[in-house]
Amino acid sequence: MCGIVAYIGRKPAKHLLLEGLKRLEYRGYDSAGIAILGTTLKVVRTVGRVRALEDQIEKQGEIDGTLGMAHTRWATHGGVTEKNAHPHLDDGKLGHGIALVHNGIIENYAVLKRYLEDKGHVFKSETDTEVLAHLIGELYRGDLERAVQGALREVTGAYAIAVICAKEPDTLVVARKGSPLMVGVGKDEYIVASDSSAIVAHTTQAFTLADYTVAKLTRESFRTTTVDNVPVDAQVKELEFDLEQIDLGTFEHYMLKEIFEQPRSLRVCMQGRIDDRAGQVVLGGVSEFARRLATARRIVFVGQGTALHACMVGTYLMEEMAKIPSDWDFASEFRYRNPIVEEGTVVVAVSQSGETADTLSALMEAKQRGALALGIVNVVGSSIARETDAGVYLRVGPEIGVASTKAFVGQVMVAAMLSLFVGRRRFLSSEFTLAYLKQLKSVPDCIDRVLEQSDHIRSVTAKYIHRENWLFLGRGVNYPVALEGALKLKEISYIHAEGMPAAEMKHGPIALIDHGMPAVFVATRNSQYEKVLSNIQEVRSRGGHVIAVATEGDDHVRSLCEDVFYVPDLPEHLQPLVTVVPLQVLAYHAALMRGKDVDKPRNLAKSVTVE
Ligand code: GLU
Repeated sequence: MCGIVAYIGRKPAKHLLLEGLKRLEYRGYDSAGIAILGTTLKVVRTVGRVRALEDQIEKQGEIDGTLGMAHTRWATHGGVTEKNAHPHLDDGKLGHGIALVHNGIIENYAVLKRYLEDKGHVFKSETDTEVLAHLIGELYRGDLERAVQGALREVTGAYAIAVICAKEPDTLVVARKGSPLMVGVGKDEYIVASDSSAIVAHTTQAFTLADYTVAKLTRESFRTTTVDNVPVDAQVKELEFDLEQIDLGTFEHYMLKEIFEQPRSLRVCMQGRIDDRAGQVVLGGVSEFARRLATARRIVFVGQGTALHACMVGTYLMEEMAKIPSDWDFASEFRYRNPIVEEGTVVVAVSQSGETADTLSALMEAKQRGALALGIVNVVGSSIARETDAGVYLRVGPEIGVASTKAFVGQVMVAAMLSLFVGRRRFLSSEFTLAYLKQLKSVPDCIDRVLEQSDHIRSVTAKYIHRENWLFLGRGVNYPVALEGALKLKEISYIHAEGMPAAEMKHGPIALIDHGMPAVFVATRNSQYEKVLSNIQEVRSRGGHVIAVATEGDDHVRSLCEDVFYVPDLPEHLQPLVTVVPLQVLAYHAALMRGKDVDKPRNLAKSVTVE
């Protein structure tokens, strides 16, 4: 959520900042801005995308300088307007030429604003961020680093910030608490960004700024301190990130690329983790805790959005394979319900970015109450990865499309491996595990077979594209898939869709069904198959049009439904790995047909770092 990039070095900053900003644009894109300190401090801001910012810079004339920062916003406080776009400045009259970009929320901004207004500060925007710029200005006594430390001692909430001051052309100050920020270390230069994608083109040496840490960067050196000015160590490490991974290639959109990448991503996800000879799963990240996992009394999966749907599948898998009572919860709800964490509780935080604010907070809460904290995340070294006791990385490569696809199948795949890992230490035989692992290994090929139907899925989507309300229904382990199918459609095409357990429909939602309403059923062959067929009949009797996701070779379903997407047969608990795929493709085509921006849906952003 929101992208920050900042630079201090010997090269012209403008091009470098704009390139970095484009790579970070998936994190927020309602407005953008840049500040560069050359002979004077110049600031350009605009509503819209980075491209609009480039046009605006062109109109306003060149901005030169080797120190600067840029921001792409996802508004939390204050509308999407030019004056609310970052960078924000301290007060013109009382000010020192301080410019600041911020990701996060300053929760006590209202109190601070009153205090500063009493001191004569005049605010120009409605943002929480501007308060921080003025506060730093208020505390400035000729040392930017000290002023930032002082201001941060007063604020509550979450932040990643970059600050420059017209009076200090050789200093860039950055800091973080709760929002991600990395510092790339080059020769006589530093490039700071919300994630490594904006750094790797310049250097592969970087350190992640820890919470409550302030870094003062000059062209020659850097130092890191706490907000109380106590020095802290920063460990510079080699970044594991390959720019090729985020190249669009021949695809028109990241979402489509990532959908088609799923088979390969899952192969990498499984690599080295399946021991065919011993019938075991090898998960180096959690092996130290194998005993505690095998004797766990309760496992709780927490996440938000698509990751929450993976959590739901995770509970089915864990109960089936390991027979340990398992629950899922919205991370945002779990945290605030004063959760009961009994001895033997394991909490598994699931998040693509590893930065999801609610999921991180839920994990910390559970850990504090004595739970073993595990993580299933994609981004190596992310906040959740660092805070957990142990975890398993997805290894599906960077996900840029705001609508998550390959991360979902990666999360389910990891949940399946983790369940087998635990189950095998409890009672699963090597024969059973081997047979199951064989099925797991066939999943990438199964997904390839589903993707061959992309054209068919597009033509079915076209038939219903003018319908404004859709239902997605499934039972058991395919119920979360129904939720995910509805979420995908909603978030990128803005068509209203509801997902629910197929049996729940009769308890109210069936009233919605009118003539021609599309109802997508996940109706694969499994223990609930017959029941789902009855639910299909109920919808058809009321004039609904049924689109089914069914098992290859199932002609009976074809005779009952208007349209069918076939998926290869898999054991029941692995079915979500394939049944979700046609629904991703459907949502993609629906968004395209409606002329929507697939990779940057309105109001959304990747990596939700605010609560
Ligand atoms: N809270 C700030 C604002 O609304 C920052 C939002 C962001 O992270 O982009 O401007």
